[in-house]
Amino acid sequence: MTNIIRCRGLILKTTPFKESSLIASVLTDISGKVQLLAKGVRRPKSKICGAMEPFNLDEIIYYKREFKEMYNLSDAVVIDDFEQIRNVPKKVNAALVLCEFYNKTVPPEDVNAEAFSLLLNFLKTLEKSDTTDARSLAVGFLVKALSGSGVMPHLENCVCCRGPVAKNNGKIEFSISAGGIVCHRHHDDTVVFLKRPTFDALKNIYSQEWHRIDSETSGEIEGFLVDYMYVHLNHTRLNTLKYLK
Ligand SMILES: [Zn+2]
Repeated sequence: MTNIIRCRGLILKTTPFKESSLIASVLTDISGKVQLLAKGVRRPKSKICGAMEPFNLDEIIYYKREFKEMYNLSDAVVIDDFEQIRNVPKKVNAALVLCEFYNKTVPPEDVNAEAFSLLLNFLKTLEKSDTTDARSLAVGFLVKALSGSGVMPHLENCVCCRGPVAKNNGKIEFSISAGGIVCHRHHDDTVVFLKRPTFDALKNIYSQEWHRIDSETSGEIEGFLVDYMYVHLNHTRLNTLKYLK
């Protein structure tokens, strides 16, 4: 049986396929992440071509048969191309970080409306923000996204024994492998020392709508995130992080 699916989707990544087609990875609002084959869209007269740019929000129609790795795209119309991001290279790089994150970490067709709304919220926030905030916004939303991926760091008490955690010279021990802050007894080889403002910023990201992070703190969180995602998200490395400025 073939179902026609009409949904909203954010384009995460596209890859050229054969002479004139594209394979698009799309995060949708109702079907999770899907791979869509867009036949003939790289031909000059294609109507759909402009809709397939990364981080576009589109209305999408595709045909779904039984579970397959890929479905055929029937139509795509741009709802928002986030022009205020697209015209600013630093914002583009920030947007691509979150797109790569979701492309690499969301399992196919795992219906996760939270991922879609967080990415959409990020793009809307990034569009309105100062260019100088693009990097810290991307880092903050990456931290937020860990929660939806089921790997939110444990920041309340020792992740191993739930005991109190001492603050050594204002620094807090965070075990990358255990996934949270630790007491002295549960110190391990993967412990990093988080400065107090970094720890507070991490907590704020989960407790408030949005908390602006200064660039020094954002840099520290970024360093910590690289190792954290590698350990907790199946060896995920984000290539786009190196272009984040
Ligand atoms: Zn402990």
